[in-house]
Formats: sequence, C-alpha cells, structure tokens
Amino acid sequence: MAEQHDHEHEHDVEGAAPEAPVKVVGAEPDLTKGTARPITVFGNPVLHREVKDVTSFDGELSALIDDMFQSMYAAEGVGLAANQIGVDLKVFVYDCPDDEGVRHIGHVVNPVLEEFPKDRRRVLDDGNEGCLSVPTAYAELPRPDYAAVTGQDKDGNPVRVEGTGFFARCLQHETDHLFGFLYIDKLSKRDRKDALKQMAEGTPRYATVPNE
Ligand SMILES: [Zn+2]
Repeated sequence: MAEQHDHEHEHDVEGAAPEAPVKVVGAEPDLTKGTARPITVFGNPVLHREVKDVTSFDGELSALIDDMFQSMYAAEGVGLAANQIGVDLKVFVYDCPDDEGVRHIGHVVNPVLEEFPKDRRRVLDDGNEGCLSVPTAYAELPRPDYAAVTGQDKDGNPVRVEGTGFFARCLQHETDHLFGFLYIDKLSKRDRKDALKQMAEGTPRYATVPNE
C-alpha cells in the first residue's frame, strides 16, 4: 500500500511541531539482506487471481521476505504483497503507522482476515488509499477502522496481527492483494476509472514490471 496521501498528512509534514517519539511494534528488518525488485502493476495477471498458500517455511521464504522489505522501502510503500513483485505466494510485509502514531513492522504468511467482531462498533474510516501497483493514483475508500489477520510467521508459527485506523486499512489492503483484489476493485465504476486515468497520466518514482 502507498503512503498516506491527503491534506492533513501534508500539513503534518510541513508543520514545525517536533515529532513525538514513535512507539514501534515489531522488529525492523535487517537491511543488509535482500534486493529490491520492480513492482508489478494493474493488468499483470499475478495481481488479479488468488496466489498460492506457502507450504515450505525455509530459507527461500526468508529471502523472499528480505526482498519484499527492500522492494517496499525502495518504492516508499507501507505494505507490500508477494504478487506485487511477481511471486505467486501468500505473504505480505508492512511498515505502517496507525492513527495513534504507532509504527507497525512485520510480515504475515498465509493471512486470513478475521470476521469483524460482533461486539465491536463498526466504524468506517473514509481515508484516502493508494497502491504501489496502481502508481500515482489515490482514491477515497471507506473501510472498517479495525482489522485482525491470522496466519503464520516465516518459521510456520501461528501469528495474529490486529490494527486500527490506517494500519487496519493496510492489513485489509494487503490481504486482499493475495486473493487477487486491488483496492480499486472496491471503488464505484466511476472512481475506479478515475484511478486508472490517474495511473495512466502519472509516472511512478520506482521501478515497475512492464505489462505484456
Ligand atoms: Zn497495494
């Protein structure tokens, strides 16, 4: 998923207020490992179908996760799914803030989005969303402001990751990728068309995989 892109955020960046210390949940990846790979974009078949479950928790999976972090950072994203670098496996990585200023870092293998809890008030957050695979486009998309994902870590241990606000958006966005859906597939026909027009008119600031 692309960085937050709205006026509020731009204002934050320009503001002179000193930055509060950031709480971090998760461990920063070892950036001496891995290589950035180009990003697949809308129209590439690997983005439009469900990818495969991971069944081997080995060095190859670890190396893939290293490459995914490198690729996400090179493209200045806050989340990345494996099919966004052309790999047919259910894995995503993230380094994403929530709305409380907490920075979440990690990966999930074989993620499944939990059903929204019945005892929680369903609040829709109508923030802006962007995707590294739909470069330069942004659209407003309402999503639940809470999400939880269960899956495994790179060693096959069960994990559960939950988030609120912008990070909840990220967890939903990245899980959707692995089932073949882009955020623009959830927009109205008109907004989807507009997002694709923004993409056609823009130039990504990172390497992409050309479509056939
Ligand atoms: Zn995306």
